[in-house]
Amino acid sequence: MKDLFPKNLIARWNEALVSSVRILLATHIYPDGDAVGSLVGLGLFLRQQGFEVSMICPSPYPDFLKFLDKNGEVLFFSHDREQVIRQIAEADVIIAVDVSGFTRMEEMGDLLSASGAFKVLMDHHIDPVEGDFDLVFSTPDVSSTCELIYRVLHSWRPKATLSKEQAIAFLTGIITDTNQFANSIYPETFNVVSALNACGADMEEIFDQVFRNFTYNRMRLMGYALQNIKLLPEFKTGYIVLTRDVLDAFEYKNGDTEGFVNFPLAIQGISVSAFFIQREDHIKVSLRSKGNIAVNGIAKEFFDGGGHFNASAGKMEDKPEKIETLLREALGTIIAL
Ligand code: 5GP
Ligand code: MN
Repeated sequence: MKDLFPKNLIARWNEALVSSVRILLATHIYPDGDAVGSLVGLGLFLRQQGFEVSMICPSPYPDFLKFLDKNGEVLFFSHDREQVIRQIAEADVIIAVDVSGFTRMEEMGDLLSASGAFKVLMDHHIDPVEGDFDLVFSTPDVSSTCELIYRVLHSWRPKATLSKEQAIAFLTGIITDTNQFANSIYPETFNVVSALNACGADMEEIFDQVFRNFTYNRMRLMGYALQNIKLLPEFKTGYIVLTRDVLDAFEYKNGDTEGFVNFPLAIQGISVSAFFIQREDHIKVSLRSKGNIAVNGIAKEFFDGGGHFNASAGKMEDKPEKIETLLREALGTIIAL
């Protein structure tokens, strides 16, 4: 397998870790499969290497990712505030995964940022906030953070064998971040998948847990979302809005709308998709596109967010009636009428 990073970075990683005892792994708010897969895969691997490891997120992961964290070891700042604060205070090394800096961790990020621990970034988003960290492993030229971490670990400990749990965690991140191998695939991705498969990560087992494990309400909410796709043909765009009353009617739980943003892209002639979901005090916006239409620029400029070329997100004020006007304005800057 090709080394993703130069040997001097691996040497610095080794140097920082061998003089440490407690390692704290942290990821972004509303953690997805790549975030939780990165935490658990790396966390269990480091524990196997003899370190004391803790794993934290600002908010809970969706129920369907629980199978990665069978013993419920990942702590949520929103629920276990005092315990997380203690873990941050005790950490010798902090590793931020699947996030480009501490800001996407909200208040927990401020605490991490203020810590005197050695700070490492492992991520695949653009524009890493290098200044927040002592050591940065970051490139957008991988499928996922899980792939990136696997390749760092392979360069560091080429002879180590991953446990089945570690391999399942990493493979889940790759499968979910690539939209089931539909995008962000690089030649080396399949070598990593092959190695994880050889360590016992079964594709069918993961698909059963992640994609064939819906509650009845979640399936019905999907039906509602599909029935209510709005089209803006002049912008080759389809969008979905889920307001609080609709979410309540389907007893929405965190994670129930995973993947919904992709639905409009399956329609002929549609190249951009937007998904709006009403949260406590704002509307979360997810954007996706096909081909050479960049959505990260409008995520940043119009929705106070950012992300990848074809997959970005952000937020807007809690006023559903303003969605279409704002969306049209944003699309007007990237798609010529
Ligand atoms: P999603 O729609 O799945 O929540 O997010 C898609 C992508 O957008 C994520 O992988 C991440 O790269 C990026 N993203 C999500 N939320 C934010 C945000 O608040 N700020 C920035 N800069 N990027 C985000
Ligand atoms: Mn990711």
